[in-house]
Amino acid sequence: MQTSTVIAGGGASGILAAIVCARKGDDVVLLEKNDRIGKKLLSTGNGKCNLSNINCTPDDYNTPFVKDVIDRYPPQKVVEFFSSLGLLTRVDEEGRVYPYSESATTVLNVLMRNLLNYGVRVITQCEVREIVRKEDKWIALTDKGEFSCDKLIVATGSDATSGSKSYSLVQSLGHALTPVNYAIAPLLCKDIKGANGVRAKVLAQIAVDGETLMSERGEMLFKDNALSGVLAFRLSSMLARKKGKFSSCKVTIDFVPDYSEEKLKQLILDYDNAINPLDGILHKALALNVMSRTPMDKSLLMSSAKAGALAKSCKHFEVNVTGVAGREFAQVASGGISTDGFDCHTLQSLRHKGLYCIGEVLDVDGLCGGYNLQWAWASAMAVGGYDD
Ligand SMILES: Cc1cc2nc3c(=O)[nH]c(=O)nc-3n(C[C@H](O)[C@H](O)[C@H](O)COP(=O)(O)OP(=O)(O)OC[C@H]3O[C@@H](n4cnc5c(N)ncnc54)[C@H](O)[C@@H]3O)c2cc1C
Repeated sequence: MQTSTVIAGGGASGILAAIVCARKGDDVVLLEKNDRIGKKLLSTGNGKCNLSNINCTPDDYNTPFVKDVIDRYPPQKVVEFFSSLGLLTRVDEEGRVYPYSESATTVLNVLMRNLLNYGVRVITQCEVREIVRKEDKWIALTDKGEFSCDKLIVATGSDATSGSKSYSLVQSLGHALTPVNYAIAPLLCKDIKGANGVRAKVLAQIAVDGETLMSERGEMLFKDNALSGVLAFRLSSMLARKKGKFSSCKVTIDFVPDYSEEKLKQLILDYDNAINPLDGILHKALALNVMSRTPMDKSLLMSSAKAGALAKSCKHFEVNVTGVAGREFAQVASGGISTDGFDCHTLQSLRHKGLYCIGEVLDVDGLCGGYNLQWAWASAMAVGGYDD
């Protein structure tokens, strides 16, 4: 089949790129190996699809490569574009953008309607096995035949969701793969006992080999042998970017970030509960963990020294982290096709004219909170030359 544009991968970035290119008049074919497009989109944001974040800046990613694209297609522009496609959105107090319906299905339905309206030919159960150059055309070799085009956009996603084969199409054309680690996943640790399922709003700091990488407030979900929830997910991206090259990683948790250590000590003294001194302050399971770590005398009397030691433990609870949980828990991959081989404005290969990469197949990862879909959409808008 002959066409102007072929897109390999019908996930977030591939679908939006198809719409942008088709709106500009390209004849677009979208090839997806699954039996339907946008499968992963349905599970994003716990089924609500956190599609962007209005606070997003290029600094929220692992690489300055994104700057040109994110500056041209910031969250506001992405939201405006979705509005033009017929999607109503809302923003929560942390800047996270959701469909107003709070249902990822709404986002996918709007995208599918637009694919249809703009005449994109969607072919499912069609895995692109290889991309080859023949004369001045690109050919996508698939299990449903050959697709010939002038512009070939690779949007096959990352190892975290599509498996390591997602990189092979462009790797075989000479593009380098940077080491891939999983991110936006629980942090593995063994230091917290009996608190599975407990959530707490804390301040947490992650330090790797003594260097502080991030310090943030948010909700931590404690699991058996792991720290989870949005806050741990954000910290996990910082650790993943170290590519396994570290000897120690510590997360220091402040369980009572709204009170100074001095004020907390005074409160513990005032509450004067020598048996369960943190009873009115922390969840019982967390209080037990803090107390078991605190060197203090066993007497049944509260003392200034005891209150001081407990306040210190509450504010500086150290957890040794051994790594980031594996593929089945990860939302994204940190690593991928090296951005060195691509033009940061057009996303065109610097080696091969007419070949483009967008979305997570590239070595681009953002923090938890809508930043990865923001990259998927923004890179799709850039490759289609939206508003250029
Ligand atoms: C559980 C979960 C929740 C998430 N929640 C959020 C969230 O709320 N907010 C956020 O910003 N990010 C979230 N993410 C991350 C986000 O989903 C991804 O960053 C984003 O989907 C990447 O888009 P993409 O188009 O690059 O890749 P994908 O969406 O992975 O799409 C790639 C597509 O290519 C297809 N494909 C692969 N190889 C081939 C081939 N050879 N031929 C044909 N088709 C192929 C795949 O089947 C897939 O459909 C979440 C991820 C997960 C796993």
